[in-house]
Amino acid sequence: MGERTEPSGAQEPTRKGRGPGALPGERNPFWKGGRTIASNGYVLVKRPEHHLADVRGYVYEHRLVMEEKLGRPLEPGEIPHHINGSKTDNRPENLELMGSHAEHRLHHRKRDKGLRLPGEPNPEVECACGCGARFSKYDGQGRPRRFVTGHTPSSSRTVSK
Ligand SMILES: [Zn+2]
Ligand SMILES: [Zn+2]
Repeated sequence: MGERTEPSGAQEPTRKGRGPGALPGERNPFWKGGRTIASNGYVLVKRPEHHLADVRGYVYEHRLVMEEKLGRPLEPGEIPHHINGSKTDNRPENLELMGSHAEHRLHHRKRDKGLRLPGEPNPEVECACGCGARFSKYDGQGRPRRFVTGHTPSSSRTVSK
């Protein structure tokens, strides 16, 4: 910021940026011209020489960022998942590596419905109605529960058996 001071006078603005070290167009790592949003909502950047590039030379930005974060190329089937759900938020801390499409789908189930993941602990929780009953949080289908069956948020009755 602040480096692009406009010369007052003779010099043509279009001649700027051609000093020593300036890279032409797409070879410049700070080149933003090739950044676009794909129809599926993900960000594409133009990197024709990249191993993930499609026939038009575009690569998904979240895949580039994940490779940088990992320090190695992505393997087939590996998918970076957007933790906060925003497909254009490609900060490294918003990306989590999924080993497969199936694992990725599970994470979306988890985020969208709060379902239990395979191997996720099933903690004992207390009924949210205040009756004091304790039960495992997830049911047989992996759905989270807050109440003993039949207890509701408005229910303040004491259940005795
Ligand atoms: Zn995802
Ligand atoms: Zn209860």
